[in-house]
Amino acid sequence: MRKVLAFDLGGTKFAFGVVNEDGTVLGSGRVDTLATQGPAQAVSRVAAAAHALLAELKLTSKDLLGIGIASPGPLDIARGCVDGSPNLPGWTGYSIEGELSKAFQLPARIDNDANAAALGEYLFGAGKGKKNLIYITLSTGIGGGAIVDGRMMRGANGNAAELGHLTLDIKGPKCPCGGNGCFEMYASGTAIARRAKAAVAAGRTSSMSTLAGGVENITSHHVLQALGQKDPLAQEIWTDTIEYLGRGLAVIINTFNPEIIVIGGGVTAAGDVLFIPMREKALGYAFPRLAAVCSIVPAGLGGNVGVVGAAACAFEAAQ
Ligand SMILES: [Zn+2]
Repeated sequence: MRKVLAFDLGGTKFAFGVVNEDGTVLGSGRVDTLATQGPAQAVSRVAAAAHALLAELKLTSKDLLGIGIASPGPLDIARGCVDGSPNLPGWTGYSIEGELSKAFQLPARIDNDANAAALGEYLFGAGKGKKNLIYITLSTGIGGGAIVDGRMMRGANGNAAELGHLTLDIKGPKCPCGGNGCFEMYASGTAIARRAKAAVAAGRTSSMSTLAGGVENITSHHVLQALGQKDPLAQEIWTDTIEYLGRGLAVIINTFNPEIIVIGGGVTAAGDVLFIPMREKALGYAFPRLAAVCSIVPAGLGGNVGVVGAAACAFEAAQ
């Protein structure tokens, strides 16, 4: 069976793995990125660790089709590098794609991590075979990726589908992207926590501060915990979150006409309490004809999404 080498670059961890054409991870590992020390040291250590993994699996570059790399954006696809990623200071202009290609003598391809995850979910995960698929990650921020007519939508310069930054309110809170009132300013894990903290700091009583051990420590996890105990403030914050998610997803449904929206990220640990009302809102706000064909489901790849998504990019590039 055909195999690829996959790398998943993050601000703290640089993961890698060897992945089969059916999405099975044959072996994997990770090194610390040590992002502030620059790209060369991280790429050289991850390459050494991946060479060791290949040796352990009794494989060489000749057994592999190519290399896929999933990276935080924005990316300079033409040069194979990150371009101003806030979590990777000093990495701009260094060709991660070029250096890893050289280290293994294989063709390499870099893609935005959420776009790679979309392709991974399409080839191997919850959206297998659904040719019009949107992937959304609800975590610290909101990431997005789109599969359109069976291909990853990379866009004019490889940075398509920044769905976390569609504007829900032009007068809303300032987003790190420079905009105001972006989707991720309302519905990411960070945004849920921020609204909870602000309400408690403004004098609302809630079990959330006790659960968190202080208002400053409140996370979306504590909001969900308090929600389970029917805490009125947590219920209010959750109702608003679902409303924002419904509005944002409806725009996405009306734009892409997807058959399926696959949702991953830490916030999805909420399960039915998230998915049931979110589906109802999103499909209710979208055009009925488009809503009728769209399902909204949890991601299928779990913790493997980074490496398997990167592998999917390598398989697509090799086609
Ligand atoms: Zn934004």
